[in-house]
Amino acid sequence: MRLEGRIAVITGAGSGIGRAIALAFAREGASVALLDVREAAAQQTLALLGPGKHSALLCDVADGASVVRAFDAIDASYGRIDVVVNNAGIDTTPGDGMDKLIENRGLVTPFMSDAAFQRMLAVNVFGVFACTREGVRRMLREQRGGAIVNMSSVAGLSALAVAHYSASKSAVLGFTRATAREFGPHGIRVNAICPGVIDTPMAARVPEAAMKPLLAATPLRRIGQPEDIANAAVYLASDEASFVTGQWLSPNGGLVMC
Ligand code: NAD
Repeated sequence: MRLEGRIAVITGAGSGIGRAIALAFAREGASVALLDVREAAAQQTLALLGPGKHSALLCDVADGASVVRAFDAIDASYGRIDVVVNNAGIDTTPGDGMDKLIENRGLVTPFMSDAAFQRMLAVNVFGVFACTREGVRRMLREQRGGAIVNMSSVAGLSALAVAHYSASKSAVLGFTRATAREFGPHGIRVNAICPGVIDTPMAARVPEAAMKPLLAATPLRRIGQPEDIANAAVYLASDEASFVTGQWLSPNGGLVMC
């Protein structure tokens, strides 16, 4: 098994990609701590896992105190952390104008509120920072190295989504590279995944009119499955990627090539 004996924290584990990563990590021998702002959803994922030391915890990654509480609880229960998967994310915020997309002929940014933009960065960027900080503190203490996997998006590489989401996912790539350089000498690898369109509740919320051209522009002519991303996460968390850091991997069916 590729993650035998590892202690892994997965954020946003109550749905879609996070749930698939939890299942794949547990199958590969990891003990997983499932974090989600919807505790009941994390519990549902927990119920799908087989035997092993797994747990589900309430955590709002946009709230620093909530992140500290969750990581303290994990530390108390498992004694160390080997892998953090920063997967929790949102693609729309209240007041971002998405509801008026058609009326505004594709324009969203000029109608977006300060709060809508800031909420996106709070979940998608601050959340990655806060969980990385708490995970890496424990990795440094144990001096066993570790792996961080950050969920970016093809929207972080190319102009495929609304501005606040794109900005947040590009920021995740910058954060990935800077922390890979910072933590590399301590044996801690940091990499990102840039999924294309993946079949999850998040993608189901994208209007068909917006989905059709994306599918037409995808050479493999299908949307991805959460398992396509879970496979990439297993690889990046495992020793197979022991010389890989500061990189992004983009399972996207060929939608974006760069
Ligand atoms: P999803 O909406 O199905 O699941 C996201 C999970 O994150 C949910 O369980 C939700 O409760 C949790 N979450 C949201 N805000 C949170 C917070 N503040 N604190 C803790 N948990 C929180 O979405 P998904 O499609 O599985 O997306 C997972 C990640 O992949 C996200 O970062 C997303 O941006 C990224 N992504 C998704 C796609 C796609 O097409 N589905 C494409 C590219 C990138």
